[in-house]
Amino acid sequence: MLSETKLYINGVVRPAAGDRTYETVGPWTGEVVGKAADASAEDVNEAIAAARRAFDATDWSTNHQARFELVKRLYELLQANEERISTLCRVQGGSALGFVPRAQVGMALGCYKELLDLFPQVRWEKDRGEAGPPQYRSHRKIVYEAVGVVGAITPWNVPLYVNIGKVVSALLAGCTVILKPAPDTPGPGAVMGELAAEAGFPPGVFNVVTGADPAMAGEMLVLDPRVDLISFTGSTGVGKRIMEKGAATLKRVFLELGGKSAKIVLDDVPNFAQEVASTMLVGHAGQGCAVQSRLLVSRKRYAEAVEILRGAYAAYEGKWGDFDDPSQVMGPVISKKQMERVMGYIDLGVREGATLLAGGKTRPEKGGGWFIEPTCFVDVTNDMRIGREEIFGPVLVVIPYEDEEDAIRIANDSDYGLSSGVASGDLDRALRLAGRIRAGSVSVNGGMCIAGDLPFGGYKMSGIGREWGVEGIEEYLESKVVAWRV
Ligand code: NAD
Repeated sequence: MLSETKLYINGVVRPAAGDRTYETVGPWTGEVVGKAADASAEDVNEAIAAARRAFDATDWSTNHQARFELVKRLYELLQANEERISTLCRVQGGSALGFVPRAQVGMALGCYKELLDLFPQVRWEKDRGEAGPPQYRSHRKIVYEAVGVVGAITPWNVPLYVNIGKVVSALLAGCTVILKPAPDTPGPGAVMGELAAEAGFPPGVFNVVTGADPAMAGEMLVLDPRVDLISFTGSTGVGKRIMEKGAATLKRVFLELGGKSAKIVLDDVPNFAQEVASTMLVGHAGQGCAVQSRLLVSRKRYAEAVEILRGAYAAYEGKWGDFDDPSQVMGPVISKKQMERVMGYIDLGVREGATLLAGGKTRPEKGGGWFIEPTCFVDVTNDMRIGREEIFGPVLVVIPYEDEEDAIRIANDSDYGLSSGVASGDLDRALRLAGRIRAGSVSVNGGMCIAGDLPFGGYKMSGIGREWGVEGIEEYLESKVVAWRV
């Protein structure tokens, strides 16, 4: 049993009002693995009031150096607690041991460091010089100021990574923050609260409210006029709702949503087998928003690709689902509900007429939890629901294309536009195609698009705005023009 986690409100680590807690269930076993504080509306209200006060009545937003030192101190404490957070991400979040160094914990901390390194690049002022007709001639400058109080609402799949992307960027910009983690994975956020208290953050600058109800605290943040900006990562459905509800207070909303990203493997690629096989959707059981879950292969080499995938999936048996094996990157899916949802899509794929090449079954004998086999559908067309909707599980769909033009058409024929990939033996050709894909990132020949110093986000229904990089910090700034007559 993992230890019980608490709320962090107004500088105090404490239980929820009335000592309310809820149990968290571990995806590996389906059993209770811990308890978390279950925030009430009263707790959330107190967190919002504290964040507002800290923004309005302290020098947090203006004392750049002092807050940088504290945010850096939090980084050092998180590093010192890496083992504990890794255990939480494994036991509570279902991460396989080999996936921990990736977006789960290792990469999350690396990206935190990159944000700290970028801080000197944030411009707080720009001098625009003198201009205007003689009678109004003015000297002008643009000042960049923190937006205010930020409500950060995060998902369960890579909780530490997304918490850091929002909280650290907003704090560095000078905002105060209320973090609301997903109910299934309250741990990493709660630890961030504890460590912020240890680092000596001023009361109210950073608050963490965990809770069993998926919507209550988040909706309060979205509706409350004291909150200036909502930074949300999660499903497109909830993102739309947040935009609608935020309209009442004309809240700024920043949304990182779902994806159904395509990888185009061109015929001329020299390592065809490797390019095709590496698309198997197994890392963290496919629960990543930016995963390339549609593989697009030329009809001329389609049969060859199918045989490569058949072999690759068969060879993967025995290489996933072991809690203690450091070489494994795939464990269970997060919850029973998610398992049922993914299995629903697998049934749908069969009904829609796609061919189930590999997987397709649950594997409870792996440990009693929510295990789904690495699954692959071939003979998929882009109009099938399994080709259009985000499954968020270990399910790859393979779609044939006729020629380059058709590949681009299919890649762009999606409601989403988060990430994508192109593989080719001809770099110029691949880069030309990359320019035509409507998505927030394009990985060419395996190039790494996700890093702490690069802006990440989506086109179309994949979201609004960018997280990470200087661009990600600037999402939390307002610009103000000051001009004086000369
Ligand atoms: P979700 O939308 O159900 O929940 C996300 C967060 O929103 C959780 O904290 C949840 O408690 C909260 N929430 C739920 N209903 C709410 C409401 N009415 N008002 C305010 N908050 C509410 O998503 P999930 O199931 O936790 O995560 C999976 C989804 O997240 C997938 O669609 C995935 O693509 C997406 N995701 C996107 C990115 C990205 O960067 N684009 C990253 C990770 C996950």
